[in-house]
Amino acid sequence: MIVYKFGGASVKDATGVKNLIEIVKKSTDKLLIVVSAMGKTTNALEEIVKLSFVNIDECTEKINQLYHQHFQICSELFPDDSEPIDSQLKGDFSKISLLASDKSLNQFDVKYDQIVSFGEIFSTRIINAYMNTKNIKSAFVDIREVFITDETYREAIIDTDLSKSNTIKIFDFSKQSIYLTQGFIGCSKNGLSTTLGREGSDYTAAILANFLDAEKMIVWKDVEGIMNADPQCFDKTERLNKISYQEAVELAYFGAKVIHPKTLKPLHNKNIPLYVKSFINPTGQGTTIHDYNEYDQNLPLYIIKKDQMLISLFPKDLSFVIEDGLKDIFQYLSLHRVKVNLIQNSAISISFCIDNSYVKIGELLEYFQKEYKVLYNENLELLTIRHYSEKDVLKLTARRKIFIEQRSRHTAHFVIQ
Ligand code: ASP
Ligand code: MG
Repeated sequence: MIVYKFGGASVKDATGVKNLIEIVKKSTDKLLIVVSAMGKTTNALEEIVKLSFVNIDECTEKINQLYHQHFQICSELFPDDSEPIDSQLKGDFSKISLLASDKSLNQFDVKYDQIVSFGEIFSTRIINAYMNTKNIKSAFVDIREVFITDETYREAIIDTDLSKSNTIKIFDFSKQSIYLTQGFIGCSKNGLSTTLGREGSDYTAAILANFLDAEKMIVWKDVEGIMNADPQCFDKTERLNKISYQEAVELAYFGAKVIHPKTLKPLHNKNIPLYVKSFINPTGQGTTIHDYNEYDQNLPLYIIKKDQMLISLFPKDLSFVIEDGLKDIFQYLSLHRVKVNLIQNSAISISFCIDNSYVKIGELLEYFQKEYKVLYNENLELLTIRHYSEKDVLKLTARRKIFIEQRSRHTAHFVIQ
């Protein structure tokens, strides 16, 4: 059994859905297909949630727009009879309208998950209906009946035992050859929808691959595989043929956007290879991530994580930060789920880099200001070079103000303006 993951870009329009079907048709294996929301649907739903708190008319307008985008795709896919799928969509969109105007739903994160989770429901409903018209007998599974999570809305954590036994029960490949389900979403024990963190569909697919002991997982992307740098930022880029799980984790963690950082662990734990392939050129070789020992391609890898904030803490009484402060600092960061991308300390200071997008930054600064003098800089970049040379470093950091520089044998990191 193989797990296929299709991201939003691969199913952004009717052509994308048709292309997905072509890829699925060519497979002779049993398949579990995990799909994200179409195109930029998740962003649009996020916007709808925000607007629902401040401007219900604009919110309604946005809901209508999103409905029309999906309706348009359906009318292209089902030119003869889009009625059955359309009435389902209408039903879902009126649920969104009700949720948006529900005044009692006043906790942002809870409301977010109830509304944003619809993106994946739309895409899978439409794709499943289309597959059936093309005589591909796929079974639609609502993953919220399978993945049970805690109640950390927007970053829910999967209950592994429960979800695993559900997975094995529901995805029964002795009865069915193709299953289709959603990435990114789950259900809390009290029956509310949850989401697993933005771009979380890869993670869903990896967990399913782990639970079902898949032979491999393939992520279908709009690029030829994992490149040694982001083609949008660098002129010359090359594809990596084979990399180890460790290399891939480093890449993903430091900002390579091709795979979600959490994806690798469930696959590595069962030694399941991950293929990153192009949905535009499905027969292309792509990149394989597996338990390879050595990195033998001799290509330096350049990764830029944008929108970083560097926070530096200095104990007001000159006490040693390592001895006294670290536990408290990291307890706060862990409790508030602040993702720290880089850390550096001196005897009497500690600096750490976090994403600018962290929403509760005011609270964080206020908390640390009680004990520390706090300095911070926004809008920085975290540049990581794996397998670096001095020439690379000079070229990429030229004329940039360097705030932090860290080097180990294989990796150099720079926090730069
Ligand atoms: N649709 C979700 C998002 O855009 C999940 C995903 O794409 O992986 O964040
Ligand atoms: Mg998406």
